[in-house]
Amino acid sequence: MLERLQELEKEALAALEAVDAEDALQAWKVKYMGRSAALAEITSGLGELPKDERPAVGKRANQVKVTLEAAYNSRAQSLHAESLKRSLREQRLDVTLPGRPIVRGRIHPSNQILRQIIAIWAEMGFQVYRSRDVENDEYNFQLLNFPLHHPARDMQDTFFTTQPDILLRTHTSPGQIRVMRERAPEPIRVVLPGMCYRYEQITARSEIQFNQVEGLAVGERITFADLKGTLNAFARRMFGQDVGTRFRASYFPFTEPSAEMDIECFVCAGEGCTVCKYTGWLEILGCGMVHPIVLQNGGYAPERYTGFAFGMGPERIAMLKDGIDDIRYFWANDLRFLEQF
Ligand SMILES: [Zn+2]
Repeated sequence: MLERLQELEKEALAALEAVDAEDALQAWKVKYMGRSAALAEITSGLGELPKDERPAVGKRANQVKVTLEAAYNSRAQSLHAESLKRSLREQRLDVTLPGRPIVRGRIHPSNQILRQIIAIWAEMGFQVYRSRDVENDEYNFQLLNFPLHHPARDMQDTFFTTQPDILLRTHTSPGQIRVMRERAPEPIRVVLPGMCYRYEQITARSEIQFNQVEGLAVGERITFADLKGTLNAFARRMFGQDVGTRFRASYFPFTEPSAEMDIECFVCAGEGCTVCKYTGWLEILGCGMVHPIVLQNGGYAPERYTGFAFGMGPERIAMLKDGIDDIRYFWANDLRFLEQF
């Protein structure tokens, strides 16, 4: 029996020498060290041996087991090290290869122009005041001097929700009332940027959603001269130091007097072209002195306080500046358009 153990050990160690892969190693383990291996049979059959042989055979069997275990562990280690070395050799990483380019996003053209406009007003001391997109009839119309059934409402048809009186704002002007009620009687210098919504037929010139930047200044002794000077300063920063401007009388329910501001066409310098429709002028914003009723609704006594307001469409300005001929491009998500900015 001792000889048999001797042979078994020799055979197992020789077989282990020949093992060269992880799965062959596992097969070896099952064959020589598993529950049905020859060694296990000898150990479990110890009881059937003559009494005087048992201690020597048991001791030897145990030695063989320990030897095989140690040999197995060291083989497993060296195999693992080899396979690691091989994979490092075969799957070599070339760190000098150029990387895959990361596609860079960019700021949407509407936001680019918005930021430009806001930056100019910020330099002139105007804060940004954010107001809600979802409004009620009172703030969107009534407090801005559009009484119920007033025909001026026809210019701003909007999206009503299923809740009575709750609608998507048609202009950023309801923010004027909100900021005034928040700050009265402190002086105000704010711009109110944001998205507006109108129930319109979508064409190259009109969309159902668009940005507006509204401005509001309220305080004592603010005059129409302040309005003109401030808006001229804005136009020079936005369109160039030499740009000419003009004001035309207009009508808005929430300002009195009201005006539209035009700038000299920067495409033809006033000569007349298709962009300015041969007038030499481009309309860029509406403005006026805040209507006394609106001041009052905001919490400012109109006999003491005055103010001016203006509103412009960033998309419209971007269209003029960059020669974009269709407003629908802004929200169409077409990369061919967006990647040009
Ligand atoms: Zn022109």
